Amino acid sequence: MHAPRVEDKATPYWWEAAPLTPLPQQPLPRNLDVLIVGAGYAGLSAGLVLAREGRSVAAFDAMDPGEGASTRNGGITSGTIRPDYATLTRRFGEEKALAIEAEGKAAREFLYDFIKTEGLVCDFQPVGQFKGAFGYEQYEAMARTADRLAKKLGIEAYAVPYAEQRKYVGTDVYRGGTVRMDIGGLHPAKFHSELLRVALASELTVHGRTPVISIDRDGSGFRVLTAAGTVRARQVLVCTNGYTDAAVPFLRRRLVPVRSRIIATEELAPDVMARLMPKRMMITENREVGFYYRPSPDGRRILLGGRDSSRVGDPAAPKLLLRKGLINLFPELEAVRLSHSWFGNVAMNRDMIPRIFEKDSVVYATGFCGSGVVWAPWVGMHAAHKLMGHEERARTAFDFRPPAFIPFYRGNPWFMPAFIQGYRMHDRIAMWRASR
Ligand SMILES: Cc1cc2nc3c(=O)[nH]c(=O)nc-3n(C[C@H](O)[C@H](O)[C@H](O)COP(=O)(O)OP(=O)(O)OC[C@H]3O[C@@H](n4cnc5c(N)ncnc54)[C@H](O)[C@@H]3O)c2cc1C
Repeated sequence: MHAPRVEDKATPYWWEAAPLTPLPQQPLPRNLDVLIVGAGYAGLSAGLVLAREGRSVAAFDAMDPGEGASTRNGGITSGTIRPDYATLTRRFGEEKALAIEAEGKAAREFLYDFIKTEGLVCDFQPVGQFKGAFGYEQYEAMARTADRLAKKLGIEAYAVPYAEQRKYVGTDVYRGGTVRMDIGGLHPAKFHSELLRVALASELTVHGRTPVISIDRDGSGFRVLTAAGTVRARQVLVCTNGYTDAAVPFLRRRLVPVRSRIIATEELAPDVMARLMPKRMMITENREVGFYYRPSPDGRRILLGGRDSSRVGDPAAPKLLLRKGLINLFPELEAVRLSHSWFGNVAMNRDMIPRIFEKDSVVYATGFCGSGVVWAPWVGMHAAHKLMGHEERARTAFDFRPPAFIPFYRGNPWFMPAFIQGYRMHDRIAMWRASR
């Protein structure tokens, strides 16, 4: 077997069309109504709403705005909640479980409407999503979920039997699957850059490459130490998600950053793309540590992502694991070259549910668990309303309590590689059972 030829571009494919742009240095404000920590989708969405309501507001980011997950992700507008419907029902009862699902529908509609009304040029394509089943038992359960979504929430969702599968994805690995037409794809870095454009035009001030170092109470407000000096703010909103650092120790002990990695292929021939991704849909898999993949917005490449259990640096192994997964799905890509491979951090909390919460008067918008393309703008917008005391407009189906404390954890997720291996083992057993 010859060694796969892998190119070395370790930056996101998305940065080719939408490179990160350092912002001009801004004078440091002395006083603000609201200081936002983090300028990804969540921080910018909150800042946009606050600025438009006339608040003096600035977002500070330790890196260039967007350099966190918001320009690195797969761009799939999934808005899913990790625990499945059955688990949510067990935990909260059927009414709450349905309200959480309904919130996903509302959040996706909000995003699509926002893109349209603000005229954001971000290659949004409402192409639908196919989710592959491992085994016929899984397929039956997934078909029931699709039926429920269609009946209870009016979502266009349906089951695709194995015999029809190749009309959706050119692989035999799955035993059928389900389609949701309310999910699509966008160019994540273009989306972030367009969000930044409208936020700046609405008088949100954004300070790039200016980490917040500490947040302390100061009378009825806060004294925030940044790398550029001290700012006084009446309110503080934390939107640091998978990049949370020592500046916000309370959150750091409750969120686990997990690496997600994506590979992009070189351009493939049009007939190959037509065979492998006939409907140009977004694709996910029904397993704990599955792959997600999609065509590039121009329909010429495949981008495939999955968990990366490495902890430091950019070693070749996780990249090659994804490549192996790609070839397993599509053996005809055996000799394909990869043009890019990169990673970013998603943030997991114990119950895997996004939330807005307040602790010691600081407001937090976080916990998107790998689905922040839909959730981060939605939660950011609601957090802004919470800060302004708009009770009705701040309401969501999510919990307003802080995520649970993780025992023996202070921000170094040393246990993650073992966890991911455990999930992979769980998947292998489930797949072995399904194949019998
Ligand atoms: C590889 C990958 C693939 C993904 N695929 C998808 C997908 O297909 N669909 C989907 O819905 N979601 C996906 N996600 C998740 C999604 O990208 C995130 O949920 C979303 O971008 C979170 O946005 P955010 O604004 O909360 O955080 P981020 O965009 O991560 O921004 C947080 C910011 O906080 C800043 N920060 C942290 N600490 C400080 C500090 N002390 N001072 C100042 N700034 C600070 C960081 O610099 C960072 O820019 C993926 C994520 C990754 C990494």
